[in-house]
Amino acid sequence: MQKITLVDLGAQYQRIKQEINDAIFEVVESSNFILGKAVQNFEKEFAAYCGASHAIGIGSGTDAITLALRALGLEPGNRVVTAANTFIGTTEPVGLVGAKLVFCDIDPVTYNLDPEKLECVITDTTRAVIAVHLYGQPAPIDAIKKIIEPRGIALVEDAAQAHGAEYYNQRIGSLGHAACFSFYPGKNLGAYGDGGAVVTNSSELADRVRMLRNHGRHQKYEHEIEGVNSRLDELQAAILRVKLRYLDAWNERRRHHAQRYTEQLSALAVITPAEQPGLRSVYHLYVIRTPHRDALREFLNKRGISTGIHYPLPLHLQPAYKHLGYGVGDFPVTEAITKEILSLPMYPELTESDIDRICEGIREFMITHAK
Ligand SMILES: *Cc1c(COP(=O)(O)O)cnc(C)c1O
Repeated sequence: MQKITLVDLGAQYQRIKQEINDAIFEVVESSNFILGKAVQNFEKEFAAYCGASHAIGIGSGTDAITLALRALGLEPGNRVVTAANTFIGTTEPVGLVGAKLVFCDIDPVTYNLDPEKLECVITDTTRAVIAVHLYGQPAPIDAIKKIIEPRGIALVEDAAQAHGAEYYNQRIGSLGHAACFSFYPGKNLGAYGDGGAVVTNSSELADRVRMLRNHGRHQKYEHEIEGVNSRLDELQAAILRVKLRYLDAWNERRRHHAQRYTEQLSALAVITPAEQPGLRSVYHLYVIRTPHRDALREFLNKRGISTGIHYPLPLHLQPAYKHLGYGVGDFPVTEAITKEILSLPMYPELTESDIDRICEGIREFMITHAK
């Protein structure tokens, strides 16, 4: 039986091969590999796509968050709050700028930051909140802003999983002070290597990020500050320019797949993703919940269906964050879902018959195993 993988980057390449190859060839022919026309054009196009004034191409999504935090003026002693159920790329930047990382529990329905719990972890030294649009669904931005805006706390969107998602008819990317995107190959908009971007409406912030990503300079050999080397490169930008033109269609396919999954699975005893009123998820991941997660995963695997867990161990319990002093029981919702979540195959080129086969597998499992 044909295997169904969690993602399939090859299938996408086959469909746009000629355009991609031409774009790569053009960069190689030009011999201009760093901060040339492709990056400039992509930055303009991606900012326009997000409905924001500026996009700055960065070497990765993690670096995009680091540079956004630095540009916001985060300092040692400042606190930065985010959810514990996310990828470590959200939180490494906090340590890198020397700030103190503070976790917050999530909403059991959306898996995004729970504003009520956020209220409880904010202190006088909290300087920023990183709102992750997890699995492609926007975080509850208005409720978060209501808490942090009066206190002058900055809002950074971690948009790594949500390119093109909408929050009350507005694309995510300009809902806070800065939004950070990742173009890691498996993301909704993925490069053929690492890449990222900071998107913002603030010219000042954009200018600082531009300087920081390029050795702290505007001009060659005139370094105003110590920056880093983290630039989106020309090859990746040229590839992303081709792919950006397909992003809406691909996201539409993901939404179509999600709907088909939900239609078939809602009759079974699994919890399906709950898209919230006013929000338009782009289903970077389609995540279901069941107490029989591990057995189901094994069952599907035997039928050639790959699944994932995002994420199996919450960040507050990771060895890397032992020094923060958190323990089991600190974030009950995060810890509960961690044992039950399962990511089903999701990518635009997935077929309806793939989805039907996956749902049939889950149905069979439920009948035979999950009484
Ligand atoms: C992928 C991802 C990142 C990091 O992006 P990289 O480009 O891999 O550095 C950060 N946050 C979230 C939620 C992600 O999914």
